[in-house]
Amino acid sequence: MRTVLIVEDEPAMLRGLEDNFKMKGYYVLTAGDGKKGLDTALRERPDLILLDIMLPELNGYEVCSHVREKGLDMPIIMLTAKDQESDIVLGLNLGADDYVTKPFSIKELMARAEAFMRRRKDVEPAVYEFADCKLDVAAHSLERAGQPVPLTPGEFKMLHLFLRKAGCPLTQDEIRTTVFGYSHFITTRDIDKAVDSLRTKIEPDPKQPRYLHMIPNIGYKFQGPSETP
Ligand code: CA
Repeated sequence: MRTVLIVEDEPAMLRGLEDNFKMKGYYVLTAGDGKKGLDTALRERPDLILLDIMLPELNGYEVCSHVREKGLDMPIIMLTAKDQESDIVLGLNLGADDYVTKPFSIKELMARAEAFMRRRKDVEPAVYEFADCKLDVAAHSLERAGQPVPLTPGEFKMLHLFLRKAGCPLTQDEIRTTVFGYSHFITTRDIDKAVDSLRTKIEPDPKQPRYLHMIPNIGYKFQGPSETP
């Protein structure tokens, strides 16, 4: 059975989430503060964590970074109180996978949770396909409409990262680290340029991107043709 851990200190919110996930057939664990949340995560190893940011004892950032330090890789969706980009970026950089902004629709949150569950079951595919593109991971090669498209090593790493984390927001920092390593000489402008270059290779119209979307003040997200934003 799929287990979800909900860490939230507002009782009404906690109850609402708990009821919805139970109805969907999840086994639900709950915690009303960060310390209990962290203890439960480490002990029970749930398949998914919904994590509020403002919590008593330990806040959501601390819980998230401790969970990742222990090497646990289950998806973490942050429940952010307001649309504060800096908070969202911090959470994503500390290892959260996604976020929803309160007040959020339960339906949307459930859909994202389900998408994570589906993805978790699959091992990494050897080939990613979307629209008329095909990325062969082992061969580091991209084909579009049956024709080979040359990629630089950086472009390959970037596209692979986007496809691996399709539907998830990626911060500028995550992209930088994956594509360029820990370099201080790479600016956000350089990342934008690299994304633009990748767009020319995969987008039907690079000026009106269908797959590689910018998220203002955060970074980028790959949205596959079949996934609703
Ligand atoms: Ca709270």
